[in-house]
Amino acid sequence: MTTPTETPTNSVPTLVGGVWQTSSATQTSEVFNPSTGKVIAQVPLCDKQETDTIVAAAAAALPDWSATPAVERARVMFKYRDLIEKHFEELAALVTREHGKTLPESRAEVQRGLEMAEFACGVPNMLMGDTLPNIAAEVDAETMRHPVGVCVGITPYNFPFMVPMWMYPVAITCGNTFILKPSEKVPLSAVRMGELLIEAGLPDGVFNIAHGDRNCVEALLVNPEVAAISFVGSTAIAKYIYETGTKHGKRVQAAGGAKNHLVIMPDADLNQSVKALAASAYGCAGQRCMAGSVAVAVGNIADPLVDGLCEHASTLTVGPSEGNESVDMGPLITREHLDRVSGYLDIAANEGASVAFDGRDDFPSESFLLGPSVVDQVQPQMRVAKEEIFGPVLSVMRAKDLDSAMEIGRNCPYGNGASIFTGSGYAARQFKQHFNAGMIGINVGVPAPMAWFPFTGWNQSFFGDLHIQGTESVHFYTRQKMTLTRWFHSPEDTHADPVWKSNR
Ligand code: NAD
Repeated sequence: MTTPTETPTNSVPTLVGGVWQTSSATQTSEVFNPSTGKVIAQVPLCDKQETDTIVAAAAAALPDWSATPAVERARVMFKYRDLIEKHFEELAALVTREHGKTLPESRAEVQRGLEMAEFACGVPNMLMGDTLPNIAAEVDAETMRHPVGVCVGITPYNFPFMVPMWMYPVAITCGNTFILKPSEKVPLSAVRMGELLIEAGLPDGVFNIAHGDRNCVEALLVNPEVAAISFVGSTAIAKYIYETGTKHGKRVQAAGGAKNHLVIMPDADLNQSVKALAASAYGCAGQRCMAGSVAVAVGNIADPLVDGLCEHASTLTVGPSEGNESVDMGPLITREHLDRVSGYLDIAANEGASVAFDGRDDFPSESFLLGPSVVDQVQPQMRVAKEEIFGPVLSVMRAKDLDSAMEIGRNCPYGNGASIFTGSGYAARQFKQHFNAGMIGINVGVPAPMAWFPFTGWNQSFFGDLHIQGTESVHFYTRQKMTLTRWFHSPEDTHADPVWKSNR
């Protein structure tokens, strides 16, 4: 076993069969600290040949690991869970360093990831099969769950710790081996997770790390030794991953982008709603797939809501987040993304919307900062109403009643989350039942499920069948085997006592 510190300090190592390696890649990509704008590491972009070597290491570890008793596999996860708790603050600081979200936001992310490890500790319970004795005369039927084989996780930049934790703790506790391909923008948390897994006693080759972008991903998608692919990222790539992976015979779950609606009814508690909307739209600088992106104000609440949102936005402290606990909002991931997001404010104004609060300010030029924005009078045909912005821009649309607000949802191609703010149980029930999205909040700004429930995106926000998290994830990472058993009665068999039949 080698340690990552044995490789050149600013080059991010791969993890192959339990060995930290300096990649043979000829191409690299820069990793930034978004708070300072400084390059903090170079991540290698693995080519097909190197990626195939990493898959081979995962395949070599599969026979022993899948034959390891489920409770022993879970025991490693118990140790890993404790290590996450022990290193909680360090992990949160690392997320802030490479991603830029505030420390409290990073702590919340690590906590959600920790809960995935806790969920995985209970996987043996969920691996149990079903039996039905005597399904036909003298015939017994049973099912068992087997691991699927080598699994791959391809993850986005916005949750460097939590999203990988959605995947591999369950996959490996189910008896699979795993290759994580983290976002090339945030590869450092992945390396730390690898170190802690090794410290927890995970055998060599069960968890591996490949780095890269398109070429590395393509190699994973077509490699015949890969059985299953979990992907989280933008919709265009999710669709491509799903189509290519399934074409090559793999099971794929691919979560994509989002455009989440927050519907505010006239009877909503205005102050509570403003706070919840702001937290939803501006938390993690809007870089969450469950972030509220469009506020749909119903009836006469629109004007006071916009006033409240602008007032609230003016109170938020925006600044470099590393080492600074007092900021409410940190930077965006890269300068390129900052330019893209702030560009939407000009696009909105050019299309006739009104920028009620403009988050562009005189921020330190080295960090990738943009303040919270409110764009009012947004119409359905405008780009800010239709496209995923993935930054701290909240659009406000106005609807005359709940039906019109529901119509906006019906026309949205995405379907991750949506929330309603209301004092009416009937309106809440209608919304829960009929809004066109897979995760619903009632007086909750970010209806993201915790580990025990599936992350049920709909429409263009998810491609596949079995979702990430919860029991569905155990089903994704296992395949069932059904056995029918009949033992024939022989004339010499003295056990054929009819009295036994009464014990059936
Ligand atoms: P992204 O799609 O650019 O990248 C995601 C992963 O795909 C990365 O590992 C990246 O290296 C890889 N990738 C990028 N381009 C590729 C290509 N052409 N071919 C093959 N692989 C490629 O996403 P991102 O910018 O890192 O993350 C933000 C996006 O992720 C947003 O759209 C957000 O909504 C989405 N997201 C969705 C969820 C969810 O649960 N639905 C959760 C988090 C983030």
